[in-house]
Amino acid sequence: MKNALEGAVRSIHRELRTRQPEFCACAHCEDDVLALALNQVKPRYVSEHTSLGTVVTGVHLSYDQMRAELTVVVFDAMRRVARSPRHTTGGVAATTS
Ligand SMILES: [Zn+2]
Repeated sequence: MKNALEGAVRSIHRELRTRQPEFCACAHCEDDVLALALNQVKPRYVSEHTSLGTVVTGVHLSYDQMRAELTVVVFDAMRRVARSPRHTTGGVAATTS
């Protein structure tokens, strides 16, 4: 069931990124944003339903409401990743191996 959430988060992220080209589009940042957003989103949906299997299918929000909520979460994740990106493609890289 987590794949349904993941798919929604992924498509929303792609949409936002197209509209906001100032955000980094590299694979590192995409992974970080998706992970952050999913971490935010999962507990909220899980807490509504005790059974994991019904997390997404049993959600009482309409599809539009869910997308609106996810958009806020994904956008927040994008801003957080942008503030401290892990991609280090230039000379700014920290000396870690
Ligand atoms: Zn990046």
